[in-house]
Amino acid sequence: MEEKDGLKTVKCRAFDAIPWLRYGFSTRHGGVSLGECASLSFSYQKEAEELVDENFRRFCNANAMPFESLVLTHQTHTANVAIVNNSHRNRGRDRTLRETDGVVTAAEDLGLVCFTADCVPLLLVDPQAKVIAAVHAGWRGTVQSIAANAVKAMVQAGADPKNILAAIGPSIGPCHFEVGQEVAAEFAARFGEKLPLKEHRADHFMVDLWLANRLVLLEAGVPNDRIFTANICTYCNNFDFYSHRYTNGRRGSLIAAIAMEGDV
Ligand SMILES: [Zn+2]
Repeated sequence: MEEKDGLKTVKCRAFDAIPWLRYGFSTRHGGVSLGECASLSFSYQKEAEELVDENFRRFCNANAMPFESLVLTHQTHTANVAIVNNSHRNRGRDRTLRETDGVVTAAEDLGLVCFTADCVPLLLVDPQAKVIAAVHAGWRGTVQSIAANAVKAMVQAGADPKNILAAIGPSIGPCHFEVGQEVAAEFAARFGEKLPLKEHRADHFMVDLWLANRLVLLEAGVPNDRIFTANICTYCNNFDFYSHRYTNGRRGSLIAAIAMEGDV
């Protein structure tokens, strides 16, 4: 975790080694949001645009990202990934990208954003081809392999899976992601023995979304030693992160964001 101007961001050392890469996973600290959203929330649904804009500005300043270029999408737990370009620049609040849970670009100075609060945020970069992605992987997106769809879209944009670095950000951990039999059955059908499901109590199972997303990335050709997990459970660490389950939905939104700075 890194602190700048009172704003804390979760970083990934492997990403820090890339000089032109700008990115970060947000925490709750350093913003202007109030009440259950205090203080660094990015939910336009819950608060006035001015407050959320100010939080975006602060996050962008602390992480040297271009606020005016952000691409936000309307996430609906799909496995849909869109390739975006300069025509999407600063198409933020209007959320023209409907039913899109992942974004990919090869364009510089374009900030890709995904929103989470327990769901898994993934940031991907191919440092050779200069292609990046931001992905929201809830349990549905995970089972439907949205991480693999993002890798495919990155390949379309010029990336090579074996060069991709992936960061799995703060999200609900195997310690707290409990599901019922129906959801457990979907994970079992998708991942088989590679993803052990621990029966926690009668008909309730603990699922490791971090491992599940790693498995999807491995299948897509990303090398194991290029996949990094923050190992931060948002439920356990609800003081620092928004957790949907811990608060029964009374919470703000975190973001994961990534951009490539031009002319470096
Ligand atoms: Zn936990």
